Amino acid sequence: MDEHGYVMGTIPATTAKLHVPVVGFIAHVDTSPEMQGHEVRPIVHKNYDGRDLVLPDDPTAVLRAADDPALAAHIGHDIVTASGHTLLGADDKAGVAEIVAAAEYLMAHPEIPHGTVRVAFTPDEEIGRGANRFDVGRFGALCAYTMDGGSAGEVEWESFSADAMTITFKGFNTHPGYAKGRMVNAIKLAADFISRLPTDRLSPETTDGYDGYVHPYVMDASVDRTSVRILIRDFSTSGLEEKETFVEELARAVVADRKGASVEIMISESYRNMREILEGYPEVVECAREAIRRSGLTPVERPIRGGTDGSRLSFMGLPTPNLFAGEHNFHSRLEWVSAQDMDKAVETIVNLCRVWEERTT
Ligand SMILES: [Zn+2]
Repeated sequence: MDEHGYVMGTIPATTAKLHVPVVGFIAHVDTSPEMQGHEVRPIVHKNYDGRDLVLPDDPTAVLRAADDPALAAHIGHDIVTASGHTLLGADDKAGVAEIVAAAEYLMAHPEIPHGTVRVAFTPDEEIGRGANRFDVGRFGALCAYTMDGGSAGEVEWESFSADAMTITFKGFNTHPGYAKGRMVNAIKLAADFISRLPTDRLSPETTDGYDGYVHPYVMDASVDRTSVRILIRDFSTSGLEEKETFVEELARAVVADRKGASVEIMISESYRNMREILEGYPEVVECAREAIRRSGLTPVERPIRGGTDGSRLSFMGLPTPNLFAGEHNFHSRLEWVSAQDMDKAVETIVNLCRVWEERTT
């Protein structure tokens, strides 16, 4: 473990081939701050039969197959939940467990040919900083896979591109009793701006698939100055820029004819679509597809409407798609995971190590 809390380890190579690339597997050890993640009481519901799963510490927390098609598809599995008060934390303890189980299996089976395998466990993923202090050079892998996805078979290699905008409206404050003709209320400027944002498109509430959005999510308001923080999301950098121009024009139009009103706009880059990098390394995703098929599953490829540590790592020189870990209902007290899907994830890791070895001459 380094001074920043990153844990790295190595499974030594077993192959006689000299040029098998070093491949890595990564999971994050932090859990979502949105719900309590300590004092977790995990419950294993053996051989799930489709009944309602009432979580005992809070009987209003109920998992119903009728409300949750993914759960309905897991009848016969062993389902793990928390007890009602807390996260389960399968996001991403499932990934941690899977990587450790795969490492244990590979160490116990030196007859399985594979190259050097690196593993890493990282902090701060849930606050968007998991890649910040990741030492890509020290990790020393050609590519890696985060084990942090949902349903069995998923391989994710496209993510949002993301920026953050801060729009600050500046007005003029004075005693409201004597403000006639003088006061310019920045709160009202911001309200005017928000009301001009489209309601039928470009918002999280109205988009899915490959559509991006602009999403005001924090406001810091006073008469003198009010700033609105906005998340900008798209799958392409050009789409991101279009949305930023659109937002900027709306903001400028609000203050255009108002004496004493002005606006300041700041844009900062959050992360970029990992596809931009992974397209240059098609074998990274191709090996994952092959490993998933060998585990008896069909690869499912969907764009991530968010970012992963892999989005950042890919741009730091470590191409890193995301593989399924079996997690469901992320960040909720109704979080659950299937033990059988976790076994499939372990199998997929082991198969991936084999596939990379076989493909090397
Ligand atoms: Zn996660």
